[in-house]
Amino acid sequence: MKMEFDIDLILAMLAKEVADYKVPVVDLIAVQSQDPYQVLVATILSARTKDETTAGAAARLFARAPDLLSLAALSEEEIARLIYPVGFYRSKAGYLARLPAAVTSMGGAIPAEVDTLTKLPGVGRKTANLVVSVAFHKPAICVDTHVHRIMNIWGYVQTKTPLETEMALRGKLPQRHWLTVNSILVAFGQGTCKPIFPHCDRCVIRQYCPQIGVTPRRVPGSRRNAAMGRTLKLLCWNVNGIRAMEKKGFAELVRDLDPDILALQETKLQEEQVSDELKNIEGYQSFWHCAGRKGYAGVAVYSRIAPLSVRYGLNDPAFDNEGRVLTLEFADFFLINCYFPNAGEGLKRLDFKLAFNRALLEFAQGLAAQKSVVLCGDYNVAHREIDLKNPKSNEHNAGFTLQERSWMDDFLAAGFVDTFRMFNNEPGHYSWWSYRLNARAKDIGWRIDYFCVDEKSRHRVLGAAILKDVMGSDHCPVQLDFK
Ligand code: SF4
Repeated sequence: MKMEFDIDLILAMLAKEVADYKVPVVDLIAVQSQDPYQVLVATILSARTKDETTAGAAARLFARAPDLLSLAALSEEEIARLIYPVGFYRSKAGYLARLPAAVTSMGGAIPAEVDTLTKLPGVGRKTANLVVSVAFHKPAICVDTHVHRIMNIWGYVQTKTPLETEMALRGKLPQRHWLTVNSILVAFGQGTCKPIFPHCDRCVIRQYCPQIGVTPRRVPGSRRNAAMGRTLKLLCWNVNGIRAMEKKGFAELVRDLDPDILALQETKLQEEQVSDELKNIEGYQSFWHCAGRKGYAGVAVYSRIAPLSVRYGLNDPAFDNEGRVLTLEFADFFLINCYFPNAGEGLKRLDFKLAFNRALLEFAQGLAAQKSVVLCGDYNVAHREIDLKNPKSNEHNAGFTLQERSWMDDFLAAGFVDTFRMFNNEPGHYSWWSYRLNARAKDIGWRIDYFCVDEKSRHRVLGAAILKDVMGSDHCPVQLDFK
């Protein structure tokens, strides 16, 4: 039974716990500089950027522009060069280039109020709250993704957006915690209560935490030693370009996700571009099938288990030059990793796609006659209306045409099972969101990434999930627990 949740006690325990963790970089800069300008700039730089990268970029920029006056002397290009490679460095360079004039028009000093700060270029509510609390020591609650996420895990608030969380906390969280809650929960969220598979096994407050909506990490090794027999954790992820992900710590992410087999689509590189770091992630063998065309398609599989054999493609040059299919044979199943073609703008490639789909189905049926088949990948089709947010407006668009959906009907009727729908028949579960119009934040998505198995292997499926909180691509990974 969980013990009563007392926010004073919890935050006191966590403050003690995170005292030895790495201090979030913006707090560090505040402590070192005591300067609202530097705190503001560091906060702008830190959005969607790792702390180490922010720290390096801030140090380079402050060496040239320690104050607003010297920042005004730098061109936008120079700023961009100095702050590279922080996330969205071009946009941020633009904001910073406009900052001196904007501050001058407000009287020349960095404002100390949230509402005024949000009028500055590149300053949203989160940044403004952080600057007010960290630089000016005034009561403000900076709600970033960690605070929003963890407060909801605790059930302390029930909110959908960071702004809702901020408003709820203003009415509920005692003011004595406002200044410190952000740095405590950012450090705790980075070190223990991680967004993906939090480390509940070593969490100091686990006896109090209701763990709402959480899948804790499995303690390394425990799954493989389980007396119950082995359950494999299979993940499938369209990474939309693995080289960008490599720069953001792909190997570390794989270690956190801890799959037995990880199937990737849209790797978008050539064989000779696969770095040693990508090829040799500790504990895994990797296999790559790249497209002939540069920066296009491509699939890869990381596996902890050595396969008996590997097949590249469908044995049809019309399809195989696009690097779409990689099949690993294990003792008691085949894993087919597939990046299905997109029907394309104006449905120009619909015929190609349907021909590919038919060939793929025939291939999968041939393998299923021998042993279990797991067919995962970006199928590039939302099967039913519940599989996308806006079915009506997409009726004639690639990925939701009648022809593509009919193929999916045929595929399932031919003896394959959509494993996610074995456990969940609700709408609102998506695996892809357009990069446009803030679609992911608004959850305007499509479910187009699937794990399917042949009907005879249905009993081997122990679980299926969509890991929507895993960031890094416009798709999120999907999971299959397979016995
Ligand atoms: S028990 Fe798990 S979910 Fe709860 S706070 Fe700790 S790490 Fe987070």
